[in-house]
Amino acid sequence: MEAFIGLDIGGTKIMVAAADRDGNILRRERTATSTSLDEDLTNINNMITAVSREEQVMGMGAAIGGPLDWKQGIVSPLHQPAWRNLPLKAMRESRWGCPFQVDVDTNVAAVGEYRWGEVTAKRFLYLTLSTGMGGGFLTDGRIYRGRDGAHPEVGHQSIHFRSLNSSAVQCECGAPDCLEALISGNGIRRIYGKPAQALTAQEWEEVAYNLGQGLRNMAALYAPDLIRIGGGVAVGGGENFILAARNVMEEHLRLVPAPQVELSRLGYDTALLGAIAMALPKDS
Ligand SMILES: [Zn+2]
Repeated sequence: MEAFIGLDIGGTKIMVAAADRDGNILRRERTATSTSLDEDLTNINNMITAVSREEQVMGMGAAIGGPLDWKQGIVSPLHQPAWRNLPLKAMRESRWGCPFQVDVDTNVAAVGEYRWGEVTAKRFLYLTLSTGMGGGFLTDGRIYRGRDGAHPEVGHQSIHFRSLNSSAVQCECGAPDCLEALISGNGIRRIYGKPAQALTAQEWEEVAYNLGQGLRNMAALYAPDLIRIGGGVAVGGGENFILAARNVMEEHLRLVPAPQVELSRLGYDTALLGAIAMALPKDS
């Protein structure tokens, strides 16, 4: 038997799964992300061994926070300070002897949602709203890339925001007014002093307003058919949160047709499933 491995390397947890040639998950493991790079790499190798068992590993895909060089597979995730300029592709390929592809987690999640979330949209924008915030844009199922392969950072757009505590709005990239600083899990903790799941209705409304302003900008610039939103904060906020943000977008959007805006269909597994999709043979 053969196995295809997906890795979702996040700022709070690392998930590893083995799938068959059709992308069905056979076995999976997860662990908390540590502050030590060596410990994380050891954990990842052990989990790959555990999920692949005696089967031959034929391919691997991985999702990790940006920035990264997807061609060379060198990663420097913003929210994982221990991981800097790590040649992850070269390390995995020499250790496991199979093709390895890594991409920005939101691109990978977009691929997962597209493949297994019944997406037929030609222009599809996927947003991840978790520890950080970002997006992946697919046209006809292919990842849109910027100059020199750069990943468009939709989380780092400036917006006209509302905040009950505007002095606490500070992005980890250094800018004072990024969308990510207002609506990501880390941003929410900084502004409201608590995790997203503890927000009051009034605070959720403010987060939805700020997301809606970001959606308005993204709709105006990309003119997508469909926007799906996943990640822990979005799943926690649920349908009402997404609907409130969509209403703000529609209220402020002019000239460009409003896209469909929906919650991810794949819950917490979007990036993991996208990583498996990248690991599978390209003809499948
Ligand atoms: Zn920023």
